[in-house]
Amino acid sequence: MIESFAQLSEIQGSHLVWTLLCICLLIFMQLGFSCYEVGLVREKNNIHVVMKNCMGFCISMLLFTFFGIVIMFGPLGSMGAYLHSIWFENEPGELVFIMFHSILCATTVTLISGAVVERMRVRGYLTIAILTSVFIYPVFGRLAWGDKLFSDNPYAWLGALNFYDFAGATVVHSVGGWVALAASLVVGPRLGRFGTDRQPIRPSSLPMSSIGVFLLWIGWLGFNGGSQLFLTSTTPLILFNTFLSGLAGVISAMLLSYRRYQQTRVIHVMNGGLCGLVATTGGADIFMPWHALVAGAIAGVFPSTFQSWFKKLEIDDGIGVIPVHLVSGIWGTLLVGMVIPLEGDASRINAICIQCLGIFTAGVFAFGAAYSLLSLINRYRPLRVPKSGEVIGLNVWAHGSSTAMLDLINQMSAQAELGMFNHRIVVEPHTQEHHIATFYNSVLDKFNDLERSREQDLKKAVWLAEHDALTGVRNRRSITQLLTKEKQRIDRNDQVATIAIMDIDHFKNINDTHGHEVGDIALKSFTDMIKPHVRNTDYFGRIGGEEFILIIMETPAEQVIERLEMIKQQVEQTPILIDEHITISITISIGVSELKQTTSVEKVLREADKCLYKAKKNGRNQIKIHEEKIFAEH
Ligand code: GH3
Ligand code: MG
Ligand code: MG
Repeated sequence: MIESFAQLSEIQGSHLVWTLLCICLLIFMQLGFSCYEVGLVREKNNIHVVMKNCMGFCISMLLFTFFGIVIMFGPLGSMGAYLHSIWFENEPGELVFIMFHSILCATTVTLISGAVVERMRVRGYLTIAILTSVFIYPVFGRLAWGDKLFSDNPYAWLGALNFYDFAGATVVHSVGGWVALAASLVVGPRLGRFGTDRQPIRPSSLPMSSIGVFLLWIGWLGFNGGSQLFLTSTTPLILFNTFLSGLAGVISAMLLSYRRYQQTRVIHVMNGGLCGLVATTGGADIFMPWHALVAGAIAGVFPSTFQSWFKKLEIDDGIGVIPVHLVSGIWGTLLVGMVIPLEGDASRINAICIQCLGIFTAGVFAFGAAYSLLSLINRYRPLRVPKSGEVIGLNVWAHGSSTAMLDLINQMSAQAELGMFNHRIVVEPHTQEHHIATFYNSVLDKFNDLERSREQDLKKAVWLAEHDALTGVRNRRSITQLLTKEKQRIDRNDQVATIAIMDIDHFKNINDTHGHEVGDIALKSFTDMIKPHVRNTDYFGRIGGEEFILIIMETPAEQVIERLEMIKQQVEQTPILIDEHITISITISIGVSELKQTTSVEKVLREADKCLYKAKKNGRNQIKIHEEKIFAEH
């Protein structure tokens, strides 16, 4: 155990190898934290977790290396000399010391992130990382460990009182836990975590989290095993205690979970193991193995117990950082007071009280400083992402990353919003989302088929509402509407239109002689004969059984008589071929009237009808124009 600056030069040989190895193992804690958190958050936030941890680690380690270490261990009066010694003399023991303690600081920062997962901005987390690594962690660290290098260091009063925290149950874990609690209170719970719109927030990968626990465990061996910075005869005990405490935490959490829920709840069991590991951190070198077992076994109870308390208090401690690091850290520190070998006439009560003083000071200082500073910062620069960012997920909101699932959701929601159902969904092939997209596309295809046939039916219905189904020309309703519309134009522009009502003569005879089908063929053939005579500006329609109407726009009756005569003659002269045995011919009578400003539609139709009647009466196959003038008779 380092007790003076001079001792750093003794870190050589096997001590150096061992401590360097422990430093390397410490990196596994970062890996473990990342896996653990990634598995416990929803997939939409996993990149954010990794990025946050990575950036937090780098920044806090760098800041602690430059500033924090001096605040924590340096003789403040001769800081220049201290920095020079550390930075320019490249003494292996000093470098090992810096690295080890920088990573402990970074560990404190990383563990905080677990409490504020899925809602904190990167900027917010980096603010916490900076505050913790240059202020909260080194200042409390100085109180507890500040006399490690220079025994007369000012402000190292907890250390001077013999407050004992071997590897950082309070200095690292509780301090981190207090900051985590403060940060969690400042940023508030995740959307949907509590309240009436509460929804289950499901971990994305528990196996990943379980791997994280084992990686943390590996890191813990370096954390506890390297804390002496020497390879000593106590090192095996430290590692043994670390194992025992961790496994006791797992087993007691497992038993409790089974007793409470009749199931082994994975998160509680994993957290139980971590609680056990934290509980032994404060006294791994002075605990007897059974102390470590008790420490771990009791700590294993914390996760499920505290989770229900936090639920009641509506504190969203993301992945359970507080029972693991804060509560177990307190417990481990307290246990140290209960079992630490007493020197001389020191009393047990006194030892416990000093441990309590350390715990209390950490709480007041770390929580107080973190809560007040973060609240202040949060007022001007929000630490939390906006609601939309939280909903869409921080992977996208903070890091612009996309996923096949997001592509799928974006395209589907665009369709829901804009109704572009003729666009198929395209996502990355060979993904789960691609399967969903394929099924969704087949639903779209079916929907579009139905929509197309519905549109066709609708078009047909509209067409039928305006046309005669047998001949395909306009029907009476459509003709009446047209006439009303055209009449307005005629009135506006003082125009004239000619209305000719045509009726097939003795049509009933065709039906009676050859049957209705032949009558239908005759009607169709008749319309085919008329169509070529209908100009773009004219209208032609069927207004009754064998009665048709031709409306010739902007032309007075005198000017159309010739055309009508031609039509009448063509009808008469064109034989209608029914089959190879039957050929029929028809004639038509035509009544003509003029639609002008002065006449109404009803009146002009009546006049044309009267003329038609007269033409019939006069012997059929003739044209009769209103104003008594018959132009053609046969
Ligand atoms: P007129 O020379 O006086 O016009 O005598 P007409 O026989 O042509 O006229 P009438 O009004 O006596 O008979 C018309 C017939 O047309 C009666 C009806 O059965 C028939 N008819 C009406 N609509 C259709 C149809 O869509 N198809 C067929 N085949 N016949 C129809
Ligand atoms: Mg007729
Ligand atoms: Mg008729």
